[in-house]
Amino acid sequence: MRLLVIEDEQDLANLLALSLRKAGFAVDIATDGEKGSFLARTNEYDLVITDYILPSLDGYNVIKEIRADGRNMPILMLSVRQSASDKINVLDIGADDYLAKPFAGDELLARVRALLRRPPHIKTDIINFHDLSLDISTFKVSRGGRNIILTNKEFALLQHLLNNAGKIVSRESLLEHVWDGDTDAFSNTVETHILRLRRKIDNKGKKLIHNIVGRGYKLDLI
Ligand code: CA
Repeated sequence: MRLLVIEDEQDLANLLALSLRKAGFAVDIATDGEKGSFLARTNEYDLVITDYILPSLDGYNVIKEIRADGRNMPILMLSVRQSASDKINVLDIGADDYLAKPFAGDELLARVRALLRRPPHIKTDIINFHDLSLDISTFKVSRGGRNIILTNKEFALLQHLLNNAGKIVSRESLLEHVWDGDTDAFSNTVETHILRLRRKIDNKGKKLIHNIVGRGYKLDLI
């Protein structure tokens, strides 16, 4: 697991990195918001920890940029600001959790572990990737602003692929996450649904759902 820490207080950044590395994580550090946002959008991080008050770009806008780029990794916000409205704002723009400074190292690690166990975007209703958008609360899907009508199964399939955008998702993983235990694993139900989903999603615009022969499927801009 690779983590990014965006924190301008060098001592705190080093301390965080040290304790996270001790816990087995690979850690990169950015000491200002612009650099942090850039790193988060150009590398594959499993989780981002960002301070709120940062030079060049504050934590609020860092998160906005990361989410606007379609990146779904969990984000933990650190801040000395701790009023209820601050917390709500931060969670509303796509942070997954919020930790007020000062905090205990153990609590930070516990929250990081909890966030990594969670499927991405559990607190955000809209998942974006490229020009594709899926809204969990309203069950709406659109591509390039054009609404697409999906069946419940196609919707769940697309949601799982979006949650794992850029990664190969095996047929088994799709069966496990999208179908219930009664499904016959030897039937061609996954293939059939992928085919239908692809016809709806990829019939206009750049191909997003790819078949990775022998390994599964991938939602990506290749
Ligand atoms: Ca700061």
